[in-house]
Amino acid sequence: MQLDGVHHITCITADAQGNVDFYARVLGLRLVKKTVNFDAPDVYHLYYGDDAGAPGSILTFFEFPDAAPGRAGAGMIHRLRWRVGSREALGFWSERLGAEGVHVAPVDDAIRFTDPEGLALELAVVETDDEPLRARATDIPAEHALLGFDGVRAYGPGDELEDTELEDTVLTETMGFEMPGPGEYRLAGRRTATYGYDDPPAAVGLQGAGTVHHIAWCDRDAEHAAWRGRLAQAGERPTPVIDRQYFLSIYFREPRGVLFELATPSPGFAIDEDPEHLGEQLRLPPQYEHLRDRLEAALTPLPNPRAEAARS
Ligand code: ZN
Repeated sequence: MQLDGVHHITCITADAQGNVDFYARVLGLRLVKKTVNFDAPDVYHLYYGDDAGAPGSILTFFEFPDAAPGRAGAGMIHRLRWRVGSREALGFWSERLGAEGVHVAPVDDAIRFTDPEGLALELAVVETDDEPLRARATDIPAEHALLGFDGVRAYGPGDELEDTELEDTVLTETMGFEMPGPGEYRLAGRRTATYGYDDPPAAVGLQGAGTVHHIAWCDRDAEHAAWRGRLAQAGERPTPVIDRQYFLSIYFREPRGVLFELATPSPGFAIDEDPEHLGEQLRLPPQYEHLRDRLEAALTPLPNPRAEAARS
């Protein structure tokens, strides 16, 4: 059994319009699905990604319009890292983000900044044989586009008994991560991904706007169900297999507190709309289709900045 890198990363926003503006217009990701939170259909669940909505490129947001600003603390993911193709791309992004009023901090072969709600992001030049998952946009040169996720960093629990640097055997023995260094993990399946722990800040974390809800790792369709048994054997408490319309999911909390999901590559985002027109219409799962009139009236209309850029 093998995991093939990141499937998707899910975060929280209090502002769907500002979120689409930043991720689709500024960062040039494609809005590949506009649907609702399947557990609370009054709010959006927005999916961004590359042109095809490929696993490894997918960033999703639950919109909770009343959510207070959150902050990452122990047991939470605190930074997302995308790949770009070159140092020239970092220069392009520094300029583009700067022109939007975003403060950009250069680090080795990477730049760091935050989204409008404070979520920490990084673009990095990464040597990899992975196929680039390119997010094409009309006003972003293709060679500078985001190329999919490299991975995330999380805060460890920060107490002496649970040293962030100790090997987490759920990650290594059960899930197949390599451990190239203290607190550093790497998946090397059909795609690679990095996962690392940093010491947590003193302040307690708060789940809220601008924080990460969970990360999903990509498994293989035929192996999905078997992961439940494997995780249970390791002392984890995986959920049943849940149908998320675009993939099947299993959730569990890794020992340091971060919510993990394993998600299948199939059936993908083209199951309920034309691949040419992903994300343009509100899609509802069958159990909520009868609520469409009410939901469409209640949800804030979202213009698609990519469609507008293409028209102008
Ligand atoms: Zn998920």
